[in-house]
Amino acid sequence: MIEDVDTATQHAATAIAEMAMREISPTPGNFCVWYNYLAGSVPELRRELDALLLSGKTISSSTIQDLFDKYFREPSAEERLQQTGDELHNTLADVIRQVTQAGLDANEFGKTLTKASGSLGTGRIDAGAMRDLVSELINATKLIGQKNQALEAQLQQSSGKIAALQTRLDAARRDALTDALTGIGNRKSFDLSIQFRAQQATEQRTDLCLVMIDIDHFKRINDDHGHATGDLVLKEFTQRCMRAIRSHDLLARFGGEEFAILLRELNPNLLPEIAERIRKEINGTPFSVADRNLEVTVSLGGSLRFAWDQLEHTISRADNALYAAKNSGRNRVVIDG
Ligand code: GH3
Ligand code: MG
Ligand code: MG
Repeated sequence: MIEDVDTATQHAATAIAEMAMREISPTPGNFCVWYNYLAGSVPELRRELDALLLSGKTISSSTIQDLFDKYFREPSAEERLQQTGDELHNTLADVIRQVTQAGLDANEFGKTLTKASGSLGTGRIDAGAMRDLVSELINATKLIGQKNQALEAQLQQSSGKIAALQTRLDAARRDALTDALTGIGNRKSFDLSIQFRAQQATEQRTDLCLVMIDIDHFKRINDDHGHATGDLVLKEFTQRCMRAIRSHDLLARFGGEEFAILLRELNPNLLPEIAERIRKEINGTPFSVADRNLEVTVSLGGSLRFAWDQLEHTISRADNALYAAKNSGRNRVVIDG
């Protein structure tokens, strides 16, 4: 909805005044609800809040936050995953119910057939009874035919729904494990992968290498050039890291401006060299972002996990090495051990 400046200013001022009157804090979420209520951009919200106001009940910040959640908050990837999983579960339960019912119907039909064959088998049946029996059989057959047709239609519908839900579930699962800004795996994805790969490495008695990377003085980049430029740096950083590792190595965003790389099937002696290669890939040429050339440096901490090592131990050793790299001047690699 596009509003002219005067109308929008009027709505904004009224929203703040009406919230102040009710001692509702003008947080961005609360403001969003009240502004849109006044502008009438979401008819259901307008109806709901009108009804609340008319009821004379006290309207608190938490009431408005609930309205924000209901009308404006996008569900998180985890919530979407949960919802889609639940829907899929319910649809499968429907299918099981339908098929179980069909089994019961078939059983009934079987009983009718057995009864009929029993009567016929006696050989002592007159023409009238025979006619009744045949007509009973015709009816039962028609009924089971109709039920089967209905079942087929229901199953077809369920199967289409399941396929659509499966696609949504795959997408929600991908989103839940992906960092939206850089497109690489997030912390959750890393935790899952490292568990899996560590178990595999233990079974195969192979080693794993872990590198933790933290961008140096990243706060300054944000402060000096703005958050949007900081975001571009994070993206460019990711691209450069990807170039420095092999396709089966795993790069994930650990959080903020901290990243982790899990290298497998790597000769442990090569770990310092690879970490150094990543450092140079970042620091070798300035980052060309938002019409600026920025010098970016990173600190790296590496550790090697022997097949028998505890995973947590490997992670904390890499963390400590990163900490040592920061403390000894940044823009450097420290390998544990
Ligand atoms: P150090 O060399 O000690 O690591 O210093 P630093 O400034 O990099 O570390 P600090 O932890 O003080 O600051 C990290 C900053 O990263 C603060 C936070 O606002 C910023 N940040 C975290 N996530 C994002 C993001 O997604 N985008 C942007 N632009 N900044 C982010
Ligand atoms: Mg940092
Ligand atoms: Mg950090």
